Amino acid sequence: MKDGKSILLHNALIVTQESVKRGSIIIKDGRIDCTLYPDSDGYIEYCGQCISYEELPGIFQSHGHISDDLHGKHIMAGGIDAHVHFRDPGLTHKADFCSESMAALLGGITSVIDMPNTMPPTTSMQTLSQKYSCISGKSWTNFGLHIGATNSNSGEIIDMISGPYAEQVAGIKVFMGSSTGNMLVDSKDTLERIFSIREKPVLVHCEDEATIRANLIAAKERYGENIPFAEHPAIRSRRVCILSTIRALELAIKHGTRLHLCHVSTKEEVRMIQAAKALNPDITAETSVNYLWFSDRDYDRLGSRIKCNPAIKTEEDRYALIEGILDGTIDTIGTDHAPHLISEKSGNYCDTPSGIPSIQHSLPVMLTIADRNGIPLEKVSSLFSCNASRIFNIKGKGKIGIGMDADLTVFDPEEEFVVSRGDIAYRCGWSPYEGEKLKGRILDVYIAGVRRIENGTMAADVPHGRQLSFNKA
Ligand SMILES: [Zn+2]
Repeated sequence: MKDGKSILLHNALIVTQESVKRGSIIIKDGRIDCTLYPDSDGYIEYCGQCISYEELPGIFQSHGHISDDLHGKHIMAGGIDAHVHFRDPGLTHKADFCSESMAALLGGITSVIDMPNTMPPTTSMQTLSQKYSCISGKSWTNFGLHIGATNSNSGEIIDMISGPYAEQVAGIKVFMGSSTGNMLVDSKDTLERIFSIREKPVLVHCEDEATIRANLIAAKERYGENIPFAEHPAIRSRRVCILSTIRALELAIKHGTRLHLCHVSTKEEVRMIQAAKALNPDITAETSVNYLWFSDRDYDRLGSRIKCNPAIKTEEDRYALIEGILDGTIDTIGTDHAPHLISEKSGNYCDTPSGIPSIQHSLPVMLTIADRNGIPLEKVSSLFSCNASRIFNIKGKGKIGIGMDADLTVFDPEEEFVVSRGDIAYRCGWSPYEGEKLKGRILDVYIAGVRRIENGTMAADVPHGRQLSFNKA
C-alpha cells in the first residue's frame, strides 16, 4: 500500500527461525517497517515513548493508520518453494502459472521458483526471457526461474550468470543421469565445468540412469507389461540415488560448488550429505513432504498417484529424513510440485508419468509432521523460507525483519482439517493427500503487505506476483 498508511498486525505469535514470540509487525509501503515485542511487564517502546502494549492499536489508529488484531495467531515469513513444475509454457493442459500459483498462495507459499523442463526447455537467454514474459501477469505468487544445464550450453550459462542475466537466474538445474525433456547431463567435461561455477547454486536431481535401465529390464522380464506400482522403489532404487549422489558430492567437494541436492529420499544420502557438509559447508539439501508423509506401504493404496522420481522409499528412510531435518542436514522443503492429469496417471506402470501435485498442502503437511515429531516451528520457518532465501540470495525475502518485503503467512498450527477434492485449486484437480487429516491450517496470506488470502479463501481478483531478484553471491 503506497497511500502513506501503515498497517499494524497486532497481537500475533511471530515465528522466526530464532523464536516464537508474542508481538506486532508494522508494514509500510509493502515492507516491514518494524517489529515490536512487549517486555515481561507488557510494555513497548513506540515513537520514543514507553507505552502499554494494549494501547498500541488505539495510538496507531489515531494517526490514521490501519490496525488488525491477529488474536494470538501464528505468523511467519511467506513460504518460498524453490522447486516447482508449473508446466508453463508448453504443457498447459496439465497446469499453468495462474492455476498452480493460486494453489501455492492458498497453501501459504508466497514465492516460487520454476524448474526449466517446460516446453521449450529454459536452457538459453532467449528461452529464459520468453518464459518470463509468458508468465508475468499470470502469477498470484512472486516468481523466479532456474536455468537448465545440457551437454552443450555450459558456455552460455556462464555468460548469463556473470552478465546482465545474473539477477534473473536463481540456480542451475542439472538432471544428473535422469533424462527429463532432453536435459540429461552425462558428459564428464560438462559436469566438471558446471560444478566449477561459484556464482549460483547448482541444483542436482541425482539418479543413476544406467542402473534404472537395468532394473527396469529385470522388472519387465518378471512382470511383462503389468509391473505393479509397488515396484517403483525397486526400479528407481536406493542404489540408483546413492550412486548418483556420491558423484555429485565428490564433484562439489572437489570444486567447492554451492550444490543444492534436490528431493533427497534415502537414509544413506542423509548420512552422506551430513559428512560432505563438513568438507564443503556450501552444500545444501532439499526434501519434499511427499517423502516425509508417504512410504512404500502406500503404493498398494495409491498406486500411480504417488509415483514420483526419485521414488518414495521405506518407513526407515522417512524417519531418517525427519532426523535430517531436526539435525540441520536437510535445509529446505521444495514441493517438486509436478501435476499430471488423472487420465495420464491411469495407464500401466511404464506409460504413467512420474510426478505429484502437492504445493497447496506442503506447509500444512509439514506442520502436521512437525507436531507429531517434535519439530519446532522455528525449524519449519527455516525450512520454508529463511533457508531458501539464503541459498538463492533472494532479494528482500524469507525473514520477518526491518526492510524485508511484507510477504507473510498467518496460520493456526492446532486447527485440523481433512483435504477434500472440492478444495483443490490445481488444474489437474486431484491430490494424493485427499482424505488425509492435517493439523495446521493456512488462514491469511499477505504479499507486499496486501492480504491476498483471507481466512483460507482468495481475497484478490487479479494475479499480482512480482518477479524475484537474485542477488549476486
Ligand atoms: Zn523436480
